Amino acid sequence: MRTHHLAVIGGDGIGPDVTAAALAGVRAAADRYGFAVETTDFDLGAEAYLRSGVALDEAALAELRRHDAILLGAVGDPRVPPGVLERGLIVALRVAFAQSVNVRPVRLYPGVRSPVVGVSPENCDLVIVRENTEGLYAGGGSTSHPGTPNAVAIQNSITTVAATTEAVEFAFRLAAARRKRLTLCHKKNILVHAGQLWQDVVDEVATRYPDVEHDYVHADALCLHLPLDPGRFDVVVTDNLFGDILSDLGATVQGGLGVAASANQNPRGTAPSMYEPVHGSAPDIAGKGWANPAAAALSAALCLAGLGERDAALALEAAAASVLAEMPALSGPSMGGDTTAIGDRIAKRVTDVDPAAIGDPARS
Ligand code: NAD
Ligand code: MN
Repeated sequence: MRTHHLAVIGGDGIGPDVTAAALAGVRAAADRYGFAVETTDFDLGAEAYLRSGVALDEAALAELRRHDAILLGAVGDPRVPPGVLERGLIVALRVAFAQSVNVRPVRLYPGVRSPVVGVSPENCDLVIVRENTEGLYAGGGSTSHPGTPNAVAIQNSITTVAATTEAVEFAFRLAAARRKRLTLCHKKNILVHAGQLWQDVVDEVATRYPDVEHDYVHADALCLHLPLDPGRFDVVVTDNLFGDILSDLGATVQGGLGVAASANQNPRGTAPSMYEPVHGSAPDIAGKGWANPAAAALSAALCLAGLGERDAALALEAAAASVLAEMPALSGPSMGGDTTAIGDRIAKRVTDVDPAAIGDPARS
């Protein structure tokens, strides 16, 4: 039997709960489609950091690297200064494992209500492809005279043709398999150096994808168009910061953070890819059982797709979508069951759902 080795980082807050719920769905899909999943839990996140003073060490990195993929819940804890875990663990993993592409589908599933008027499953099916290792998130910086009226903070941004090309290639390939429309999102009227590099890379890669139309929209304008007219977008390719912001907006359009999934992909396959919900550790609801595990389950479905288990991926996606459509609310005490119960319902649905129920597998 084929066996996939998954590294599991539950992390902080709601992370461990939604990850456990998602794994129930993965196991059900493995049973149905005849493969095995072996998991290794990694004790990384706030507790481990508070104990050891280290967010991620070489030994953990080497151990993680031995796995076929990584499932991550979320990290972040009010007891740990901002950035220590988000930068020191998540961004560090993305960079160490060359996960240069972050794929974030924005799809409104049938029966799920968008809080935005006029958004329907017919007009809301796009994918944000975010460059995942550079930009302002990787440039470093410094603060002189911190804490004084003379403080000056410098936050550098780095953009290379190499990483940008990986993201743009990935986005064109995806668009070619979908509705053949690619939108570059940047702010090239102000950030002229990085913006021009992105535009040059898009223009160059576009010559290899003559069937894919491409256009350009400024990041601020995209925030206007995305909720009002999501149907005009198919694949949006953008940098690290804009992609982070736009995908929370996309999450809102598709029903909220309880629904939004992501894949941090190493397109060259030189290290494991990492799959995580778009949301964070949600300390405000941690321990209450109110976290919606669907975003984690849909991220696990992306993981199964990345491992080549296409039918299992479709079944898990369809099961999560079908359970979402039945939920009276997409988060909070009136979800219709706690995190574990919703996860179990998704897992049970995996056993008999039609994997083709939610459409064309080439779309994400
Ligand atoms: P958040 O995504 O954790 O929460 C935002 C809001 O959405 C909260 O009100 C929360 O209760 C709600 N929410 C989030 N996920 C939900 C779910 N599955 N079901 C129902 N409701 C959900 O963002 P935040 O509050 O800005 O950040 C909290 C911590 O998480 C911070 O430390 C932040 O740095 C970190 N964070 C980590 C990641 C990651 O691990 N990749 C991503 C974003 C934020
Ligand atoms: Mn984010």
